[in-house]
Amino acid sequence: MSDIKELLEGNRKWAKNIKEVDPEFFNTLSKGQAPEYLWIGCSDSRVPANQICGLIPGDVFVHRNVANIVSLTDLNCLSVLQYAVEVLKVKKIIVCGHYSCGGVETIVKCKQFGLIDNWLTSIQEIKEQNIELIEETLEHLKHDKARYESAMVDIMCELNALHQAINLCKTTVVKTAWRKGLNFTIHSAIYGIKDGKLHQISQGIGSREEMKAAYKGAIEGIRARYLIL
Ligand SMILES: [Zn+2]
Repeated sequence: MSDIKELLEGNRKWAKNIKEVDPEFFNTLSKGQAPEYLWIGCSDSRVPANQICGLIPGDVFVHRNVANIVSLTDLNCLSVLQYAVEVLKVKKIIVCGHYSCGGVETIVKCKQFGLIDNWLTSIQEIKEQNIELIEETLEHLKHDKARYESAMVDIMCELNALHQAINLCKTTVVKTAWRKGLNFTIHSAIYGIKDGKLHQISQGIGSREEMKAAYKGAIEGIRARYLIL
């Protein structure tokens, strides 16, 4: 019979190592959590929130789904958001995409995988909304089909993370919290699987008024990055 022995052994080693460094670590954590961050990222196994940011258990509240989508009708994501904002009172919310995201690639390359195609519909909309920007920005790569396609996936990964962060600003949870004067910012970022580096896409948005300028700045940044490829 198959079991999860490997995982259990790995867990015991991990817990032992932590206790050696900090004997009170688990006792302290058992008293409650007060994370500063909410992380909304992709389910991709290569992009674990804690590890890539050098954070330990207790530092970050996490929601992950395929292609880090923030849907205004996703009760799961909205519940995580509400709990993080209203109960945990996180200070920073990060929507993190990653280059070579399979969910984004599915849309860019018009692939089909069944049920999940429905989940990715909002990425198709982002592509359609931004098609002129993408084509203009990548015009100089048109002669090289492989490079063009790869750049198109990557630029869409950035645009997707940005748009999902903007979606967050439009949720009733965030609008209500800002109206009540709760102090937190919303960020978008992108992670490079090839080099392990995380980059900010948009400046922190701390109010509805800051949203447009942050979006505009992010689009200018994206354009500048891809024009010099
Ligand atoms: Zn992904």
